[in-house]
Amino acid sequence: MKRGTQLVCLLLCAALLAGCVPAKQTEESVTAPDSSGAAVDFQSSPEPVLTEQALSEIKALGESPDDNYRTWYEIFVYSFCDSDGDGIGDLQGVISKLDYLQNLGITGIWLMPIHPSMSYHKYNVSDYYAIDPDYGTMEDFETLLAECEKRNIRVILDLVVNHTGSDHGWFREAVSYLQALGDGEPDTAQCPYFDYYNFTREAKNGYTQVPGTDWFYESQFSPDMPDLNLDCPLVRQEIDAVMAFWLDKGVAGFRLDAAKEFHSGNADKNIEVLSWLQETAAAHRPDVYLVAEVWDAFSTITTFYQSGITSIFDYPFGDSGGKIITVLRNAGNAGTVSTYATALEKANAAYSGANPNYIDAPFLSNHDVGRIAGFCSGDALKTKLAGAMNLFMSGSVFVYYGEEIGMVGSGNDPSKRAPMYWNADRDSGTTNPPPGCELPDSYPFGSLEEQAGDDTSVYNYYRQAIAIRSAIPAISHGQTTAETNLNKGCVSAFRKSCDLGECIVLMNIDFSPAQVDLTGYEGWTLAAKLSADGNAITLDGAALTLPAFGTAVLVPAA
Ligand code: CA
Repeated sequence: MKRGTQLVCLLLCAALLAGCVPAKQTEESVTAPDSSGAAVDFQSSPEPVLTEQALSEIKALGESPDDNYRTWYEIFVYSFCDSDGDGIGDLQGVISKLDYLQNLGITGIWLMPIHPSMSYHKYNVSDYYAIDPDYGTMEDFETLLAECEKRNIRVILDLVVNHTGSDHGWFREAVSYLQALGDGEPDTAQCPYFDYYNFTREAKNGYTQVPGTDWFYESQFSPDMPDLNLDCPLVRQEIDAVMAFWLDKGVAGFRLDAAKEFHSGNADKNIEVLSWLQETAAAHRPDVYLVAEVWDAFSTITTFYQSGITSIFDYPFGDSGGKIITVLRNAGNAGTVSTYATALEKANAAYSGANPNYIDAPFLSNHDVGRIAGFCSGDALKTKLAGAMNLFMSGSVFVYYGEEIGMVGSGNDPSKRAPMYWNADRDSGTTNPPPGCELPDSYPFGSLEEQAGDDTSVYNYYRQAIAIRSAIPAISHGQTTAETNLNKGCVSAFRKSCDLGECIVLMNIDFSPAQVDLTGYEGWTLAAKLSADGNAITLDGAALTLPAFGTAVLVPAA
């Protein structure tokens, strides 16, 4: 995907808009929200983006729901923040940025692998019970957990158990055994590790020869990533022990790497493994959060939800071919735009049909795919609305580090994992890109430092979108249906309903302003507005005006 480098004139954007005018309740006084009782911070917003109505709903709830419907932030530790000047990000660096993440509204962190590994990305683990020395120590990790707990931020780890690193002790033992075996038949009583992997004397696709033998081992991703045999009871015991070790430390759960390759090409067996992982992890921590990577189409993800797994990344909505970017590419085309709300409804119905307790896991980009701002060709309005489309999906939403400032990055994998762009001089945070990373000459929206004080920046839009998401729990918790009466032209409208409340989200996916007739919705009030271009979102009688790429949220009147 071509990287967007177009500079966007943020000067066109004016400040966010003033408070609400509830439908047919114009006498109701509107006062500035008291942020002290809410979980959100409006200090740098010139005007409230949430109305008194929404804030009173939050207060009625007491505290934010303490569950797994969260706003997660994916961190590649290597590229996030370096605390000791060796050029590689580390856990102390992450700790130093927790206030930043809390201020952004983040309530969960997914750490990409942190265990010792031969690779810069660390997806080939050599020891599941330790911290890679590049990243710090176990004490650093325990400090990170304690500091996250103070901020109501949960932490999940990347659990990479489709394969180990080829330098893992289990694999080295098995290889040494086979090399000494000669022509004999292996005996797992002599070497249990022979059964930990998938060895065969048959040369097959996805297999690598064991040096000095006529044996081959399964290695679907690369020769230094031997696939574990997840049918082996001893391997299951090992995984159980690894999960227990980290859950006992206070980790909230795991992101399950490469779940579609546990048994490549065999969905039934993969579903069995996922069911086992869910039950086994929940036995250690009943509210454990597991999110599986099943990089596939809608029908496959629906099938995999039959495992009972809590979450599966919602690839059909994210990435360059996903629904969100497809709709944004067709902004202004009513025929395409109107399918967004119905796609949300369809996914909700299918996933919940397979697993009534599922929690959707939407995302726009991750470490394996190009960054979303590049797919938006550096267009600020599309980049912003892409963020809101993701953040206003139900479930546990994931934000990839740097997405909140519209970083771009595509091409080879390291280029998707560039250092967080804290400041324009690139002398803060971390300075050393991962090997092979090609840095863009410039980023379309500037660094965090440049964006932080600009209320119209992508960064402050993300903060406001996350604040709205946390303030109106129906956005994250609701079952989604298309709001057919309002889902017209280039306005996508969908309703969220749950026992925490109800809301209707309206998004104008067009370069022109839209007028929405709210006749028949007299019982609803305008609770939140999110302007992408700085123009006003207004309600005059029953006439709602949404500027280009503007978003409004209605809630039932109190
Ligand atoms: Ca470092």
